[in-house]
Order: sequence, then structure tokens, then C-alpha cells
Amino acid sequence: MSIASHAPARRWSDFLDVPGVAGARGKPASGGTMTGPHVSGPLPGPCSAELLARQARWESNARTYPRHLPIAIDEAAGCLVRDVDGNVFIDFLAGAGVLSLGHNHPELVHVVAKQLSKHTHGLDFPTPAKDAFTQAQLSMLPPAMRDRMKIHFCGPTGANAVDAALKLCKIATGRGDIVSFQGGFHGSSHAAMAVTGLVDQKGPVPNGVPGVHFFPFSYCSRCPLGLDPSTCATSCATYLERSLKDSNGGIPLPAAVILELVQGEGGVIPATLEFARRVREVTRELDIPLIVDEVQTGCGRTGTWFAFEQYGIEPDVIIASKALSGIGAPVAIIIYDEKLDVWAPGAHTGTFRGNQLAFAAGTEAVRITRRDDVLGNVRRRGAQVEKLLAPLQSLPWVWEVRGRGLMWGIELADPVSGQPAGNLAREVQARALRRGLIVECGGRDDCVVRMLPPLNVSADVIDTACGILVSVIRELCP
Ligand code: PMP
Repeated sequence: MSIASHAPARRWSDFLDVPGVAGARGKPASGGTMTGPHVSGPLPGPCSAELLARQARWESNARTYPRHLPIAIDEAAGCLVRDVDGNVFIDFLAGAGVLSLGHNHPELVHVVAKQLSKHTHGLDFPTPAKDAFTQAQLSMLPPAMRDRMKIHFCGPTGANAVDAALKLCKIATGRGDIVSFQGGFHGSSHAAMAVTGLVDQKGPVPNGVPGVHFFPFSYCSRCPLGLDPSTCATSCATYLERSLKDSNGGIPLPAAVILELVQGEGGVIPATLEFARRVREVTRELDIPLIVDEVQTGCGRTGTWFAFEQYGIEPDVIIASKALSGIGAPVAIIIYDEKLDVWAPGAHTGTFRGNQLAFAAGTEAVRITRRDDVLGNVRRRGAQVEKLLAPLQSLPWVWEVRGRGLMWGIELADPVSGQPAGNLAREVQARALRRGLIVECGGRDDCVVRMLPPLNVSADVIDTACGILVSVIRELCP
């Protein structure tokens, strides 16, 4: 990485090139190539502060990311973003895992630009771009699954695809209940939120979707059953199994079990192999469709195209969205066993199901992933992250360092009480930002510092980013 010169902006309006907007003076010349993190002065800088204030004035109180990452972004390339004050950051949030090939990957930009003047919005009509995308996606499935899976294009968010998956399974089974897991996150729509663990998000919304039952997840460093993982014999799976088989268990046979194999927003918690396998076994035995939510883990994030491949299981329904286009063009799909395909025409519609730009980019993203061995890079860079973060494990406030592929979390907790240390994690995030690294927090009380780098990240950038993170955590947790 190197740093190119960049002139700090004077005012937020310098960034407007919209005629007729008061104060617009035209976009300044590009700040040049971004080549490494560089932050001067306190954050937010003056231009960011102005835009953040305008945002707070005009946008919803439910806005999220800029509350803890107080910057306004001007432009981005690869792993880097530049804010409107000229500060450059390594972006290990990457659009919440959307930008698998980094910001504005030139080959994706090229195919999107080509598609833009050809055809952009196609509802659910067949198009060459959509057909190529469909074939590309199905080609990434394990060979044994390819011929029996069908694809449904959903509205363009992960939550909409979660809703579609739940509806599909309810319609196909004629059952109404859903089993989900504590700590899981599936989105903010009404139904997706209903199967999400987040009590704070659900609490203020009366009359949630009924019939959702939460079971413990294999969060072994904080066993929800209070057991010792070395001797527990995966009792969380046993509990699920016995509850579902118990004629007095209180839960009618559910329409589906929905599972994140690595809980992302929940704090980067990989399911144990045994847990995932036993969930698959019991759902198969009882003929309950298993939905794996690969919105965050999918498209290579964990080192295989889908995380379920590493667990040796085959789900009935796969939900994918975030990184499908590789460039942030929205698209969401469910891929499911054709035996479930009994829903009627129009059973899950949505105007924005035909984003041809996303299809063109997604097909190209698959091609690049294969050509550049991006999955190999995820595994190699993941091993590098593991090695670089390992020394943190001995610090008293570091509860656990964990991850898969390029999805990593550092959980911080009070060494005496074991209470999640959310404030500390937020301070790590703030200091990392001041040193030029964007990371997110998640998990209980936001106590897990999370990294979601682009999947084609270089060893050099990983070294720099982990260096920043390790030094910040050492400073704060001696
Ligand atoms: N499922 C998982 C696993 C997710 O991580 C997310 C988003 N973080 C969603 C579903 C919801 O996706 P969206 O925000 O696009 O609705």
C-alpha cells in the first residue's frame, strides 16, 4: 500500500455536482489514487461533521453505522475508502460483507457499465443476463445438489429472501411453526426479525410473527446451557432433538428450522461441526426443511462458496444475498430443493427482482472468483488473520478470538465477571478508526469487534489492519 496525495475538501457542498443545489460548487478533482490508511486530525473532520449533522437533521433516528463510525464517505476503491475530509481508511466492514471483491472492482464496473446502457430492470422476465447469473450461481453448488435445486429471485434484501424461505417452507409443509436459534440474525422485516434473537429490536414492536421457537446455539465459550464444552456432548443439539420428538414438548412439528452456520451479527460464532450435523440429522429424520441463512457467510466469505460445505451437510433451502453481485448491486435469492417448489405463481412477488446490473456483476464475480482463486485467498488470508490475532487471546479482557475464512471476531469481556464489555469494544472501534481502520461491533452488548474484509484482500493489507487492531487492543487491554 502507498498513499497518494489528496486535497482536503472545504465544505460538504464541494462534493455536490447537482445543479440548483444551494452551495454546490461542483465536485473537486478526484483526490488521486488511494494507497493506504491516513487520518489527519480528529474525527469526524469538519466536512464529515457537517454532513453527519445534516443527516441527523433529515434522516431517521433508526440510522445505524455512522453513529459509531462518524465519517461521511466521498469515494472508495478496493479495500480503501476516503472520507470527505480526505482521510483514507482500510474498510474491513466492506458494506457489511457485501463488497466481496472490494469497492468498485474495475472488471465489475466494466460489466455493470456495459449492462447499464443495455437493460437494467427486468421484473422476473427471463433475460440473457439473468440466465447467465442463474447458471453461475447453480454452478457454485456442490455437484450432488446442482440438479435438484431451484432458484427464486426475491426482493433485493436478505430479509426479503428470509421471508420468502419461511413462506416457502410453510406452504410446502402446511405447518406454521419455525425453529430458530438464540443469537441468530436474519433481518429487520417483520418476519425476519421474528426469527432473529435481538430482543431490543423486537421488544418495542407488538404482535410479532407468532409460532417462532428459539433454541440454544453452540456458543461454546458462553454455553447457553451452562455446560463445559469438553464434556457436554453437544447437549444443545440433544435438547433440540428431544424437544422436537417429545409429544409433550409444546411445539408442533415446525415448517422449518432456520440456521446461520456462522452467526455474523450475533458475534462471529461458528456452529460446531457436531451441532450442525445433528441439527441436519434430526431435521431430516423428522422431515423438517432446514434453511441455512448464508446471507453473510455465502459467496466465499468463510473459505468455501457456502459455509454449509464445510459442515458436510446439505440444506433444503439456502438464502443468499449480500455479496452475490460483488459490487453492492442489490440482489437476493433462495435456492431450494425442487420438492418444495409447490407454491403458486405469484406466491412471492416483488418489483425489484430483476436487477440486471446485479446479474451481470454477479456472473462476472463468479468468473473472477474462479480465475483468481478467491476462495483460496480467503483461506490463506484467514490463516494469516488467525496467526496475527492469536497473541490477543492471552490478554485478560479478550474472551475469545474466533472466525472462519475472512469473518473474524474478537470478543471482549470483563475478566472477573465475564460480562460482555461492549463499551470497550466500541472504544476499540473508535480508536481503530482514528488510525485508519474501519471495523464493526456485534454480538451481545456489541462486545465483539468484527472484521469482514473484501475476499480478495492482500496479505499486505491484512498485516496493516491486524497491526492496527492488535496495537489498539493492547493499548486498551494491557
Ligand atoms: N441474514 C443474515 C445472516 C444477515 O447477516 C443479514 C444482514 N446483516 C440479513 C439476513 C438481512 O439482510 P438485509 O440487511 O439485506 O435485509
